Amino acid sequence: MTFLVAGAGPAGARLATALAEAGREVILVERLTDSHRNSFSSAALSRCEALRLNIPQSAWSATWSGWQVLDPSGHEHQWWDANPLGVVLDFGRLRSAMWSRAHAAGAEVVTGCTVRIESLHSDGAHVLLQHVDGRRQHRHVKWVIDATGSSRCLLRQVSVPQPSTADPLLEGVGVEWLLQADDRVSARWLDRISFFLGTRWIPHGYGWVFPMEHNRLKVGVCCLPPQHGNGSKSDLLARLQALLRNCKLEGCAVLDRHGGVVSSSIARQESLGSGALLAVGDAASTANLLGGEGIRHAIDSADLLAETLLNSESVDQADAIRQTYEQALHRWFGWRWRVAGKLARRTWWGLDSSSADRRVERIIHGLSRTSSARDLSNLLFQYRFERYGLRLLRYLI
Ligand SMILES: Cc1cc2nc3c(=O)[nH]c(=O)nc-3n(C[C@H](O)[C@H](O)[C@H](O)COP(=O)(O)OP(=O)(O)OC[C@H]3O[C@@H](n4cnc5c(N)ncnc54)[C@H](O)[C@@H]3O)c2cc1C
Repeated sequence: MTFLVAGAGPAGARLATALAEAGREVILVERLTDSHRNSFSSAALSRCEALRLNIPQSAWSATWSGWQVLDPSGHEHQWWDANPLGVVLDFGRLRSAMWSRAHAAGAEVVTGCTVRIESLHSDGAHVLLQHVDGRRQHRHVKWVIDATGSSRCLLRQVSVPQPSTADPLLEGVGVEWLLQADDRVSARWLDRISFFLGTRWIPHGYGWVFPMEHNRLKVGVCCLPPQHGNGSKSDLLARLQALLRNCKLEGCAVLDRHGGVVSSSIARQESLGSGALLAVGDAASTANLLGGEGIRHAIDSADLLAETLLNSESVDQADAIRQTYEQALHRWFGWRWRVAGKLARRTWWGLDSSSADRRVERIIHGLSRTSSARDLSNLLFQYRFERYGLRLLRYLI
């Protein structure tokens, strides 16, 4: 039985590795020719999650122990812990290490190649592999997996219904530059992750500065408006340049410019495939847009899909397998993930006026008074909302 995984981001590469390690025949196909091209993800995550998921150490670029927030009035707030709370990954190195793991486990890894579905059935699929050098190959596989991220290429191609208007995709478009700073300039941004919140920085979104090794900094902005397509790439770039000027980073050499889209429904009720097609990672709406965080969720969904597929091989019912997988995801992500998604929608969609700025400012001041750096990590990465109880409920309503 052959599995074809389309897309070798964190989700696709992890799934291919797990299936190959279990002795299955797997082809992992990636459109990019080089793992370092369009290294779009800021790739910050908590240290305990990076350890839990066995994220390759070679991809850890920097660690951080503090949170820094510049509020809508431009005031700086900081929260520090004595120990490292998180890591910033080099996303290109992460992909490279994950491709090597998949290959070492026995998967066939094909890069510079785009997957298209030619025909899809309940017991298999015919796919077309289009290589950058013009070669075309046809293959028949038992399962085809859409791991193409927020583009959901294969789901769209075979017209699997997208999230409904009752639970539309919350979508963020981000641009990020990798800068080379020196000791003096980078000092204000090291050992912490910094966020910029409020309409003076960017309406419907946020900006960030994340540290990397060798005094490098990732600086970006992301916009999540209620109407998709609102705001152009040039608006985003203008916001990014204003942020750089404000932070006195405009003199740094720009080593790379990249960007991408992250999107998710909140109730996650959409179908995750059809026939022999299943979706994983961002394509299966696993990213959470409260902190624009998707790497660990993509990897967790890959582990759940691998487990479902490996346990269900005797069952020849694609629909039953998909249902088991959807239920496993639903249990895993649970109510906390959904409340975080609702908070994200409330915050980003509503952040477009001076009253919204004041509300954000009140929240930041409240967190300054009552919360430690570890509490912030628990809130934003573990979705531990309990201690904010009624106040949170009022905000959501
Ligand atoms: C600007 C930005 C900043 C972010 N910052 C963070 C962060 O700090 N922390 C965090 O955890 N998450 C962050 N994310 C989200 C995170 O990067 C994603 O959730 C994660 O990469 C999802 O993994 P994936 O494998 O599902 O999809 P992807 O990483 O998007 O991988 C999909 C792959 O499929 C390939 N592909 C597409 N179509 C085809 C095709 N037809 N055939 C073959 N290959 C194809 C693509 O080239 C791509 O490599 C950020 C996202 C953006 C856009």
